[in-house]
Amino acid sequence: MKKILVTGGAGFLGSHLCDRLIAQGHQVVCLDSFFTGNERNVAGLVGHPAFTLMRHDVVDAVRIDGLDEIYNLACPASPVHYQYDPIHTMKTSVLGALNMLELARATGAKVFQASTSEVYGDPTVHPQPEAYWGNVNTIGIRSCYDEGKRAAETLFFDYQRAHSLKIKVVRIFNTYGPRMAADDGRVVSNFIVQALRGEDLTVYGDGSQTRSFCYADDLVEGFMRLMNSDDAVTGPINMGNPGEFTMIELAERVLRLTGSKSKLIFMPLPQDDPKQRQPDITRAKSVLGWEPKVALEQGLEKTIAYFRTVLAK
Ligand code: NAD
Ligand code: UDP
Repeated sequence: MKKILVTGGAGFLGSHLCDRLIAQGHQVVCLDSFFTGNERNVAGLVGHPAFTLMRHDVVDAVRIDGLDEIYNLACPASPVHYQYDPIHTMKTSVLGALNMLELARATGAKVFQASTSEVYGDPTVHPQPEAYWGNVNTIGIRSCYDEGKRAAETLFFDYQRAHSLKIKVVRIFNTYGPRMAADDGRVVSNFIVQALRGEDLTVYGDGSQTRSFCYADDLVEGFMRLMNSDDAVTGPINMGNPGEFTMIELAERVLRLTGSKSKLIFMPLPQDDPKQRQPDITRAKSVLGWEPKVALEQGLEKTIAYFRTVLAK
């Protein structure tokens, strides 16, 4: 049994990870500022003898003894949320990474960083392999997130070189599933919530931009495989589902699966919105034997069922 810290553990992905780690018999410290996360996401774990919930902002240093592993997931992920206080977003990525790396140094823990496909910006190489250095606007409204995550990756690799830390860096592509917040602002939750409420689906731009959507359970399985891989495997390693869809295709699927009569309305495309995105997961397949199993249709059905329950309350 290991003692494992999950920062951002009360968020969408973090709460699924906490569930899996507790189910495997580990002791879990879930640290969260509750900026976008919610205690409801870990309600099933609160009171479990191996689970501790800790309110803390990763921008501030923290001391927790006896850690074996740290998963650093703390950071708002939806553009609406990370642009709300961009300076705090940058601090969360950079100071948060620094604080977790120092904690790993102090405890000897292995440390995992939730990086993002946003390090590739609006990519000119498609699909995106890890070797691609990206195309990021350093001064745009997405930069607080993109550049924050890029700087965090840099810190991870500098700490590894300087202090021989055991690091694991994953670049996550768009992931969806139960426990996304209804007001999260990302496309999958927006479309499903709008369809279930009979509201118009808000397509930004002409809806021809693409994303590749991974179901949360697949991703969390990949996280754990990476954490448990040989120490020589540091990443960065892409994780996502290579199935690529336009936003129009996504909207049509959501309408069909919900049986909703909602219409599509077109709204301005946000600044610097990437035109295309698809992970090249060759490395994850060969190094970790990982690939996603849940097709978009199946994952949407489960997510729709979740939001039906949430909205009925
Ligand atoms: P989320 O917003 O649901 O979860 C983030 C969690 O971090 C929340 O519980 C939030 O309260 C917490 N948090 C935010 N700032 C914090 C701070 N300063 N200190 C402590 N806690 C803080 O988002 P998510 O989708 O679960 O994303 C989790 C991680 O995965 C993030 O680091 C995100 O950048 C990364 N990621 C997610 C996706 C995706 O598609 N879901 C894609 C790429 C990267
Ligand atoms: N998007 C949309 N309608 C929405 C929310 C998002 O058309 O209500 C678009 C958005 O412009 C982007 C894509 O969907 O092109 C994915 O957006 P999301 O915020 O989910 O993730 P990210 O842009 O970070 O990949």
